[in-house]
Amino acid sequence: MSQVIAIDGPAASGKSTVANRVSETLGIPYINTGNMYRTVTFYLLNHGIDPLSPDNKQIESLLSAMDMDYRKAPDGIFRIYLNDSQVADSDIRSPEVTASVSPVAAMPEVRSRLFELQRHFASLGLIVMEGRDIGTVIFPDAQYKFFVTATPYARALRRLNQGGETPENSTVQEVADQIAERDRIDSTRAVAPLKQANDATFVDTTDMTIEEVVEFITSRVK
Ligand code: C5P
Repeated sequence: MSQVIAIDGPAASGKSTVANRVSETLGIPYINTGNMYRTVTFYLLNHGIDPLSPDNKQIESLLSAMDMDYRKAPDGIFRIYLNDSQVADSDIRSPEVTASVSPVAAMPEVRSRLFELQRHFASLGLIVMEGRDIGTVIFPDAQYKFFVTATPYARALRRLNQGGETPENSTVQEVADQIAERDRIDSTRAVAPLKQANDATFVDTTDMTIEEVVEFITSRVK
């Protein structure tokens, strides 16, 4: 059994906030796999790739030239490095990256590259890992699995309030539409689609505070 707390769920379900707090509460590393897909997307966009009509050969050669690492930064927090420079949140959470990340994450060559990186974290001891396929594909034998979601309206509202990823002056409906489109691509792709693992605990956070969700998860882990 892998010593992993797997937290999966659809876009803007609050997974990152919760996973981060769970890691602080338990004093264990937090790995955000969505940020890894975002970093690859940022990299490919910077190299002129159009994720909607990708040139597979070009993507393969760009991926083999990509030096990506996710390691402990001097402040003790695990952070992503691209060609040895720390990746800034503002780079990978931009509206442009957010709009392109799902098509990039559906590419089998991208997933197999990140699969290898993500499996390595098993050597760290107990960790919180958050994403779409952690409990189903990356660590199907994870010790703890949660599937975190909320209604589309609640998720859109949270994302809008959080800002950054949404284009300026977006309405709740526009944000809800973007989230729904990302979920549609993520859950219908051929490789590692977003879905709840059979043995995951379902957590509907629509009417829960962050503290309540964190308490729910940590109490099961303790
Ligand atoms: O979690 P976040 O919304 O930042 O993830 C961004 C995107 O990365 C998702 O919409 C999905 O396309 C992809 N992703 C994935 N598998 C994961 C984590 C994220 O496909 N384990």
